Amino acid sequence: MVFGAIFGFWIGWKSTQQEILVILTFHGVTETPAKPWEIEFGKLKKYVQDLKRFGFEPLSPSQFEPWMKGLISGGRRFMVTFDDGLLSSAEAIKKLKAEEDLDSVFFIVTDFLGMPGYIDVKILQDLSKMGCWVGLHGKDHQSPVEILAKGNDLKIQLLEAQNYLQQILGKPVKWYAYPFGEFDEKVVQCIASAGITYGFSIAAERVTRTNNPLLIPRLMFLKNAEKEGEPVIEDYLPPAGLRNGILILMLAFFVLLWGLRNLHRFYFSWKNLAN
Ligand SMILES: [Zn+2]
Repeated sequence: MVFGAIFGFWIGWKSTQQEILVILTFHGVTETPAKPWEIEFGKLKKYVQDLKRFGFEPLSPSQFEPWMKGLISGGRRFMVTFDDGLLSSAEAIKKLKAEEDLDSVFFIVTDFLGMPGYIDVKILQDLSKMGCWVGLHGKDHQSPVEILAKGNDLKIQLLEAQNYLQQILGKPVKWYAYPFGEFDEKVVQCIASAGITYGFSIAAERVTRTNNPLLIPRLMFLKNAEKEGEPVIEDYLPPAGLRNGILILMLAFFVLLWGLRNLHRFYFSWKNLAN
């Protein structure tokens, strides 16, 4: 019984220590969200603070590759990404840096740069200097599956957009987020041939080191997604491993108490017999 309890403690402890990396995806950040993928800054900041409260450390984008290679391991971590290159996302990225010391990833659609509601080249350069990691989100936000289906050259489009970003920023741009999260085998081959090292999709799973680097799952914020049975950030507040671990620890504690009580009883009945 006592050994069972010790085993329970071990299992419980192990599961509270489970390694997690979850990547979050946001779009517009506004005080008056009209679309399900828009979010108020206060709510976004609260997610970040709650994740930290449950033991999640922010993984800075420069640490992502070392994490994937196992050079950084253990613990719970999260990374924040924004898609499309909206002005309101840029404001949120700056505030997260100033208020939460968090470096975000910004996936840019190159044709949108300078359009109303979107950031321009100057803002992108400033964000990059500030520590924001810049990735590619296509030239014009068309679904890459559709681009190929229409017989257009996705690889050329990607290379042009990538070169443009690299020229503006003076550093390599090797990350790509699939517009609409859409991909198929041909698309993945295409982005690999354009020299993309990490491709980011939208999926329910969390990141593992066995993930295909060109299909890294991200959890996209969508209002009321839980009602559709979709994964939500709240699933990690607290994460299931921590929740289960604490339950197992409590159970192990009761088993230990029960075991000790039985031992105690056994000892006294043995003592009475001996007398
Ligand atoms: Zn997008």
